[in-house]
Amino acid sequence: MAFSRKNNNAKHSGKRSKAAKGAVTTFGSRTDVGSVRDHNEDSLIVRPPLFAVADGMGGHEAGEVASEIAVDVLAQLAPEHPDGDALAQAIVEANHEIIRASFDGRGREGMGTTMTAAMLEGERLVIAQVGDSRAYLLHLGKMQQLTRDHSLMADMIEAGKITPEAARVHPQRSVITRALGSDPNTTADIYEINVQAGDRLLLCSDGLYSMVTDSQIETVLKRTSDPQLCAAQLVNEAIGGGGHDNITVIVADVSGYAEETRKKVALKTKIFVAFVIALLAAIIAAAVVATNTYLDTVAYLTEDNGKVAIYKGVPGNVLGLSFSDYVETTDVSVSDLQPGTASHLGEGIRVDSVEAAKDLVKQYQEDIDKRNNEESRASESAESAAAKSETSETVATSEATSSSEAASTTEATETADNNTEAAGDAS
Ligand code: CA
Repeated sequence: MAFSRKNNNAKHSGKRSKAAKGAVTTFGSRTDVGSVRDHNEDSLIVRPPLFAVADGMGGHEAGEVASEIAVDVLAQLAPEHPDGDALAQAIVEANHEIIRASFDGRGREGMGTTMTAAMLEGERLVIAQVGDSRAYLLHLGKMQQLTRDHSLMADMIEAGKITPEAARVHPQRSVITRALGSDPNTTADIYEINVQAGDRLLLCSDGLYSMVTDSQIETVLKRTSDPQLCAAQLVNEAIGGGGHDNITVIVADVSGYAEETRKKVALKTKIFVAFVIALLAAIIAAAVVATNTYLDTVAYLTEDNGKVAIYKGVPGNVLGLSFSDYVETTDVSVSDLQPGTASHLGEGIRVDSVEAAKDLVKQYQEDIDKRNNEESRASESAESAAAKSETSETVATSEATSSSEAASTTEATETADNNTEAAGDAS
């Protein structure tokens, strides 16, 4: 609901609304018929950056019609962003429309309304004002009235004819000197105010401040941080104070650029931290998966009671934890291995897989077999060599016995050959 009229117990809790420059206004509102009246002539607008309170007068079927027309026209004609002149012009148009309405038979002649309209965007606040509804600002814990009432009491207080305390109970305290709906030349007062993040704007009809002192209002504004609860609490205070009039309250918190920047930085930091945590978790999860996969794949050989054994995983402990699983003990004896291989077994010989471990063991076995074969062949040949050498010694002895005969035969043959060659040369 953009704005509301005449709802005797209407609550508006738009809470947060995006305005220009990314600033967000947090607000709350409430209007109540009060304890004495039988209908609510107040109307309000809560459509950030526009907020307005209109307090109708003229009695039944009149006051509420005037305030309703005022907020309708304002909602249609108000500028998009804070602009005092444009806002005041929209109020002038509302005044014309109410006057037209009273001639057209909508409402009644003499009906009228106040209008306190505010536009709040970031740290910029403009107010256009006719009548005695008010705008207050809570700044650094101190509340101040921003608007000047168009009322007999305000004139008298300014003229020094009456004190504010006396004005509160004066019989003519409700007489206003300017309103919409009677004079076509009525204009609105314009206020342009630079506010700060942390400031709090209050718009209200006289049903609040005539029942509750400024000091009580200030206390509630300071104490109740949620703007909707704050608006409701102020209305309750007014009812508690008598509730003689309709009560309308709008509370809007100023959320400035600096605060928004801080919030954005905080949000970005939170998002970044969450991202880093998620990233770390993902890395750890990936590492765990990779490690598990790795430990499930790799294998190593080690010694087990003098035999070569195959284990899955990695040898040794990490922080007292073992990451290995026994697979099998082979028939290969460590004592049969090459000395270098045997000494490495103590710390574990790592391989890529159990298959690779089995292949390596097979290779060791083949090496051992080969070595054993070579050794047995070597010993066999050594034996046969030894046997041969015994035989040749026997032969040599028998040869030696006939050597003198053989030598003389050879010599005789050589002599004959020499003779033949000499004969050839001569011819
Ligand atoms: Ca009133």
